[in-house]
Amino acid sequence: MNDVKLSEIFGQNVFDDQLMREKLPKTTYKRLRKTIDEGLPLEPAVADVVANAMKDWAIERGATHFTHWFQPMNGRTAEKHDSFLSPTSDGRMIMEFSGKELIKGEADGSSFPSGGLRQTFEARGYTVWDCTSPAFLKEDASGVALCIPTAFYSHTGEALDRKSPLLHSMECIEAASLRVLKAMGDDAAHITSTIGAEQEYFLVDKRHYQQRKDLIFTGRTLFGAVPPKGQEMEDHYYGSIKEKIAKYMRDIDVELWKLGVPSKTKHNEVAPAQHELAPIFATSNVACDQNQLIMETLQKVANRHELACLLHEKPFAYVNGSGKHVNWSLVTDTGKNLFSPGKKPHHNKEFLLFTSAVIKAVDDYADLLRLCAATAGNDHRLGGHEAPPAIISIFLGEEITGIFDSIEKDEKVIASEIEMMEMGVATLPQLQKESSDRNRTSPFAFTGNKFEFRMFPSSESIAEAGLVINVIVADVLNEFAMRLENAEDVSTEIRAIIKETYTNHKRIIFNGNGYSDEWVKEAAARGLSNYKTTVDVLPCYVSEKAINLFERNKVFSKEEIFARYEILLEEYYKTVRIEARTMIDMVQKQILPAVIKYTTEVADHIYKLNQVGNFKINAQTDILENLTTKLNVLKESTDLLVSRVEESEKVEEALAKATFFKDQVIPVMEQVREVADGLEVMVDEKAWPIPTYSELLFRA
Ligand code: ADP
Ligand code: MG
Repeated sequence: MNDVKLSEIFGQNVFDDQLMREKLPKTTYKRLRKTIDEGLPLEPAVADVVANAMKDWAIERGATHFTHWFQPMNGRTAEKHDSFLSPTSDGRMIMEFSGKELIKGEADGSSFPSGGLRQTFEARGYTVWDCTSPAFLKEDASGVALCIPTAFYSHTGEALDRKSPLLHSMECIEAASLRVLKAMGDDAAHITSTIGAEQEYFLVDKRHYQQRKDLIFTGRTLFGAVPPKGQEMEDHYYGSIKEKIAKYMRDIDVELWKLGVPSKTKHNEVAPAQHELAPIFATSNVACDQNQLIMETLQKVANRHELACLLHEKPFAYVNGSGKHVNWSLVTDTGKNLFSPGKKPHHNKEFLLFTSAVIKAVDDYADLLRLCAATAGNDHRLGGHEAPPAIISIFLGEEITGIFDSIEKDEKVIASEIEMMEMGVATLPQLQKESSDRNRTSPFAFTGNKFEFRMFPSSESIAEAGLVINVIVADVLNEFAMRLENAEDVSTEIRAIIKETYTNHKRIIFNGNGYSDEWVKEAAARGLSNYKTTVDVLPCYVSEKAINLFERNKVFSKEEIFARYEILLEEYYKTVRIEARTMIDMVQKQILPAVIKYTTEVADHIYKLNQVGNFKINAQTDILENLTTKLNVLKESTDLLVSRVEESEKVEEALAKATFFKDQVIPVMEQVREVADGLEVMVDEKAWPIPTYSELLFRA
C-alpha cells in the first residue's frame, strides 16, 4: 500500500470528463456536455455511443458487470448487477452494453420503502441515468462493476428515492437565482448549489463490535456504564493519530481517491475513538453521491483493518455524537460564489441580497430544516452533550450583522476595518480574524463564504439537507425576483428588500452561545420553534405551508409528500422497535444469566465462609443484597418493555404508533438501561457478557 502514489491514482476508477473527452467522438462529447451543463434532454443516439465507450473502458479495467446505482428511501444505496454478457444469433457470447441499458433500468423493488406509492401488484419502478454524476467502477470481492448513478421513479413517475428530488431542487434554485441575478444585471448563465459534507464517525475494534448485538443490530450501544475516563481531558480532538488508525485513514484515501472523491482533511474528533473526514465540496448531487461512497468505504475498509466503523449519530452515551456538517453555497459558471462577502461586503449587493434570502428562508421554514435532520438516531444527539440544540437559528457574525443593522436603521454603512489577530509572537504570521463562527454552537452558521448546517445526522443521505435548503431559498429568491423585475429602480428595491427582510426575520439571527440555557428561553421569547424529537416535528411535513411550498416549486406532489411522511414515521418506529427488541434479547440472554451466575458465585462464597468459621461477611452480603435487588428491578422493567412492545402492535396508524414508541417505549428502555448499567459496575468484569465502554472507546 505504501508504494501507491496518491497523486497518480486520483479518479482512476471514474469515467470522468477527461476520459469522456478522450474516448468519445468530438460531436458526441459536445452533445453530452450540453446535456450535463445545460440540463437538456439526452438524445438516444448519444447514449449508445457513450454506453459503448463506457463499456470498453470498464472491461479494459476488469469489469464484468454493470449496475444502476440508486438511493432508495432507506437512506442507503442499492444496486442490482447485470453482466455485460449477451448471446449472439450464432450462439456465441459477446460483451454488450446499449444506450438503452445505460439510460433506463427496471428495478422491481416492491421491498423498498414507498409509503404506499407503489402497491405490490404494480411494483415496477425504473432507474434513470443521472449523467451529471460520473459513472465509476466499484472493486470488491465480487469483482469489478461499472456503477451508473441513477434516479429512481415509480411506474407512474413519482420519485421513490432521495436523489431525484435533489436534482429537481437544484433546477429550482438555479432558475430562481438566475432570475434575481438577471434583474440585477449580472450575466451568469448557470448556477449550481454546492455542498461539502464533513463526515464524523467512530472506530471500534471489530472483535468488540462482534460481541455487541446492539452495535450489530442498531448501530449504537443500548447499554454501557460511564467509563472512568471520557472526553473530559479534551485530549483526543486533533490529537496525533494512532498508527493503526493512520493506516486505516490512508487506505480510505486510496480507495476514495480512486473513485474521484477528493477526501481532503482527516482528524481526530472530540470524543475518544471519534474521527472526521471532509472532502472538497462539489455540486450538490455529486457531493451526495460521493458522501454515500464515503460512508460505504469507511465501513468496508474498516472491516479489512479489523475495525468497525460506526456512522450512528449517538453510538455512545456520555460522549459526543456524530453529525454531518453540510456546507452549502451557490456558485456561478463565471466562478463567483454568491456568498463570498468580498473585501467590501457593505457594497456587495448580491451577497447582501442572497444572504437576506437565506435569512428569510430559514426563518420561514425552520421547521422543514429541523425536519430534514430528524431521525430516531439524531434524537439522541440534538440538544445532548456539545451538540447543536434542536432550535434553528442563524449565526452571521458581528461584522455582517452590523452591516444589516446599519441598513435597517438607514445609517451609512461604515466599512469595518479588517481586524488582524494579535498573535503576540513576532515569528508567527499575522492572520486575518475570521468573522465566521468559531464557537460552533450554531446550527446554521455563516462560515466565511458558505452556510454550514450542523444539525444534520451523520448516517443520513445529505440529499435531504440539500433538497430543503435549495427549495426554501429558491422560493424566497423567486419572490425577490418578482419585486426586482417590476421595480422602477432596481438599486432602491434591492435596499428595500434587504431592509424589510432583515427587520421581519432578524429574530432568527443569534450570534451567542447556542448551547446555553438562556438561549433556549430567549428563543422561546422570540417565538422560534423548538421541536425536541422526530415525532414532534414530522407532522410539519404535511402542513399546508410545506405542501404548498413543494408543489409551487414542483419538487413534490401532495401524494409524494404524504408517502414520504409515512416512510419517515415508519422508519422511526421500526428503528425504535428494533432497539427495544435487541435490548430485551440482550437482557434475557446475556445480562440476566451473567448476573444470576455471578450472584450465585457470591452466595456460594458466603455459604462456604459460613461453613468454615465465623467471619465478618457484611461486605459480601451487602453486595449480594444489592445485586439481587437490582436483578429484580431489571427483570421487572424488561418485562414491562416486552409488554409495551406487544402493545405497540395494536396501534395501527403511523403517527400514533411512532408517538407510542416515543412516549411508552423509549422511557422504559431508559429504565432498563439504567439498572443494567448499575449492575455492570458491580459485577466482576470477567463475568460481564459484553465489552464495556472502556474497551470500546479506548482499545481500538
Ligand atoms: P471546518 O471543520 O472548519 O468546518 P473543513 O475544512 O473541515 O472546515 O470543512 C469545510 C467544508 O466546506 C469542506 O468540505 C469544504 O470543501 C466545504 N466548502 C468550502 N467552500 C464551499 C462552498 N463554496 N460550497 C460548499 N462547500 C464548501
Ligand atoms: Mg465544519
